Amino acid sequence: MKPRTGQDRAITSRWRPATQAVRAGTARSAWGETSEAIFLTSGYAYDCAADAAARFAGEQEGMTYSRLQNPTVEMLEQRIALMDGAEAARCTASGMAAMTAALLCQLVAGDHVVAGRALFGSCRWLTDTLLPRFGIETTTIDARDPDLWKAAIRPETRAFFFETPANPTMDIVDLQAVCDLARDRGIVSVVDNAFATAALQRPLEYGADIVAYSATKMMDGQGRVLAGAVCGTEKFILETLLPFTRNTGPTLSPFNAWVVLKGLETLDLRIRRQSENALAVGRFLETRVPRILHPGLASHPQHNLATAQMEACGPIFSFFVDGGRTQAHGLLDALELIDISNNIGDSRSLMTHPTSTTHSGVSEEARAEMGVEEGMLRINVGLEDPRDLIEDLDCALRAVGL
Ligand SMILES: *Cc1c(COP(=O)(O)O)cnc(C)c1O
Repeated sequence: MKPRTGQDRAITSRWRPATQAVRAGTARSAWGETSEAIFLTSGYAYDCAADAAARFAGEQEGMTYSRLQNPTVEMLEQRIALMDGAEAARCTASGMAAMTAALLCQLVAGDHVVAGRALFGSCRWLTDTLLPRFGIETTTIDARDPDLWKAAIRPETRAFFFETPANPTMDIVDLQAVCDLARDRGIVSVVDNAFATAALQRPLEYGADIVAYSATKMMDGQGRVLAGAVCGTEKFILETLLPFTRNTGPTLSPFNAWVVLKGLETLDLRIRRQSENALAVGRFLETRVPRILHPGLASHPQHNLATAQMEACGPIFSFFVDGGRTQAHGLLDALELIDISNNIGDSRSLMTHPTSTTHSGVSEEARAEMGVEEGMLRINVGLEDPRDLIEDLDCALRAVGL
């Protein structure tokens, strides 16, 4: 690969996603390094004062300040955009910074948002608490039913916001139906694609306008850094998102961008193996617990839709025990190998009890509506040998009488 091949969209856009994940966006410095360089710099120096003036005027290409541009961060942005089939992408310091920016950059007081009710806890806080403070009302609906999206539209509806699969209920949203409806009505669809990533599901191909990520999850994939990204058209990114992020500053650190670049190199391998492992663990749990919500299993009510719009169903699923919080906590405490941890997308298997952790900040009423019950547990299945995971779960289930 020649020094700037990774930057040449005419070439990189022809590559398949697994190739893009390893090479797209790479910009080699004068040293010709094979692995992407980390540019830990906050500023840039100019050859002369006229160059500085020209760069600030937008008349000369080049960087001015790392809140606005950074070579390592730009490599990651180009890679993520290409993998999603987007014209452009911008990275943020975390997934929540990406979600907040993707919504706030385009909404104004008086606008209305329709959102899936099963959302990541902080995304629910965004729609239920933050947006109303600025005069933006949200209607939350059961996102599985396209008719409910249609029914919730008002003349002032500006955006649809949802995740699929949704956390932690594993609800699947019909991307084509909901994005088509949005487009018909001139509404912007914003999809949180953290669970699947572009390796398994590319919402833009189904007509989504904006795809937002927590890159903390599968993209880093090894539980090291927080990061986020927003993908969309060049016009949206340059004219709507950038004025917001450049001036409010939810900037991704170049070091963290580099870690995610390294993570993306192995995303395809990891997510496919973790999806297989999650199916193996799911098939075992299905024989031992009263209920399981795993989109890859035929018992999931939206199994056909999930397998139609995703290449594999990912590493995360939920299941239930009958004995409420006591039995759920007992099961977690009896685990030896699987960690009690609320993170996901890690190559380690992690398990959490949503009502006492990730969804403890969501009102009891909203939890009931979503189907987040006291007996629910969520698991992220990692890269360990699934036989060891099944043995660990088997022992823990026995310890709580299951
Ligand atoms: C984790 C997560 C977020 C938030 O991302 P952070 O990187 O933790 O800020 C948003 N949406 C979903 C679906 C997530 O899983």
